[in-house]
Amino acid sequence: MIYKIFNTIAFRLTLWFTGIFTICSGVTFILFYFLAVQTIQTQTDQQLLDNASKFSTIIRRNGLVGARELAVVEAQAAGEKVIFFRLVYPTGEVFASSHMSYWKHVHVSKYALTKLIIDKSSVFETVQIPLTQQKARILYSYVAPNVILQTGIAMDFYSKFLLAFKKVFIGAMGFIIIFSALSGWLLIRKALSGVATITKTAQNITGSNLEARVAGIGNKDELDYLVITFNSMLDRIEELVKSIREMSDNIAHDLKTPITRIRGFAELTLVHEENLEDYRIMASNTIEESDRLLDMINTMLVISRAEAGEGDFEFKKINLSDMIKEACDLFAPLAEDKNIRFVQTIEEKILIVADIKMLQRAFSNLLDNAIKYTPEDGKVSVLVFKEKQQVTIKIEDTGIGIAQEYFEKIFERFYRAESSRTSAGTGLGLSLARTIVRQHKGDVFVSSRQSSEQSDQQSDQKGKGSIFVVRLPYSNLEVI
Ligand code: ADP
Repeated sequence: MIYKIFNTIAFRLTLWFTGIFTICSGVTFILFYFLAVQTIQTQTDQQLLDNASKFSTIIRRNGLVGARELAVVEAQAAGEKVIFFRLVYPTGEVFASSHMSYWKHVHVSKYALTKLIIDKSSVFETVQIPLTQQKARILYSYVAPNVILQTGIAMDFYSKFLLAFKKVFIGAMGFIIIFSALSGWLLIRKALSGVATITKTAQNITGSNLEARVAGIGNKDELDYLVITFNSMLDRIEELVKSIREMSDNIAHDLKTPITRIRGFAELTLVHEENLEDYRIMASNTIEESDRLLDMINTMLVISRAEAGEGDFEFKKINLSDMIKEACDLFAPLAEDKNIRFVQTIEEKILIVADIKMLQRAFSNLLDNAIKYTPEDGKVSVLVFKEKQQVTIKIEDTGIGIAQEYFEKIFERFYRAESSRTSAGTGLGLSLARTIVRQHKGDVFVSSRQSSEQSDQQSDQKGKGSIFVVRLPYSNLEVI
C-alpha cells in the first residue's frame, strides 16, 4: 500500500512541490537574516564611529583629561556592561579607561593596532567576550596624534535577534513544510482526479460494454482534451468492434449458404438412387459452390493485402479506353438478356499507368452491379472522359438505387443492402473495387439520383438508379 503511494505521480509531485517551496522559503529567510545582520552591524559600527569622533572633539577642546572623564561618564550613562572605552598609546600601553570589571578579559589586540598604524583608518573587530556567551564589536581609531581609542559595544541585541530568528525560522519552516505538503497533495490530487476517472472508466470497459464515456469537466484544460481524445478513441473502438461483429456475422452468413448447399447436394445424392449421373451432378454443383467460396476467400485476401500495402500490383502503361470497352463488350450480352439499353460514351486513347487486371476486376464489379440491380427494360450508361489531371469513369443505371444512409456502408466488406439480398452476390465487389481504385491513387463515389433531386427529408429513401463515379489520376503519357 505504502509502496503504491510512493509510486504515484501525486506523491512525487507533492515531494517536488514541498521541496521547491521549502528551498525558496529557506533562501528568503537566509537573505533576510543576512540583511538584518548587516543592518545591525552597520548601525553598531556607526555608533562606535560617532563615539570616536566625540572623543576627538573633546581631546581637541579639553585635552586627555577631558577624554578620560568622557570615557567614564559615557560608559556609566550607557551601562558598564554595554560599552567600554580605553585610551591607548600606539605601543599598546593603556593610559585611561572606563570601568573595566566586565571587560577585563577583552585585551588590546596587537594585530588591530598594527593594522591601524599601517592603514591609518579605523579598524573593526568582532570578538567573543571571554567567559560569557556574548559577542562584542570593537573599534580601534586614532582620536588624536599618538592617542588611540579602543571602544567596544556588547552585541546584546544581535544575540537576542539571532535567538528570536532561530525560533521563528524553525517554526516557520516547519509550518511551511507541513502546509506545502498538505496543500500540494490536495491540489495535485484534485488536478489528477480526472485521470482517476479516466482509469476507472477504462477499467469498466469490456468487449460487451463499450458505451461508457468519461464526463468532461469543461475547463478546456489538458485533462479536458485528454477526456475528449479518450472518448473519441472509445467511439472509434466501438465502431470498429461493431463493424468487426457485423463483418463476422456477414462472413458466417455468406459461408453458411454455399456450405449448406454443398451439404444438400450430398444428401440428395445419398437419398436418391445411386447412379453415376447423380454423382456427376453432385460433383459439378460442389465444384461450382467451392469455386464461389474460393473466389470469396481470394477476394478477401486481395482486399486485405492491398489495404495492408502488400498487394501484388503490377503497374504498367495501359490504354484505359480499350480496357473499359472490352469490359463493356463482356457485359453487353447480360444487358441484352434483360433488355437493358447499354450506352457507352468512351473517349479514345486515354493512357494511364495501372494494373490492368486489377482495374478490370474493379470495373467488372461496377458493371455487373449496374446490370444486376437494374430491372428489365432499364438503362445503363458508361461515360469515360479525361480532364487535365484526372480521368472520370461514370457508370449510371436506372436500377433500384441506394438509400443515402448506405452510401458509405456498401463499400464495407460483406455489406449488402436489404433490398439486394435476393440477388446473388457476396458483398465484396464494391469493397474490392474501392481498394483497387485507391491503390491507383484514385477513389470511387456513389450517388443515387433521388438524393440529389429530392429534399433531404426523403434522401434516406432509395432512389431510382445509382451513379458510381471513379476518378483516377491522369498524366499525359503521350507527351511524357
Ligand atoms: P454484391 O453486389 O455482391 O452484393 P457489392 O459489394 O458489389 O456486393 O455491393 C454491395 C451492395 O451495394 C449491394 O449488395 C447492393 O445493395 C448495393 N449496390 C451496389 N451497386 C448497386 C447498384 N448499381 N444499384 C443498387 N445497389 C447497388
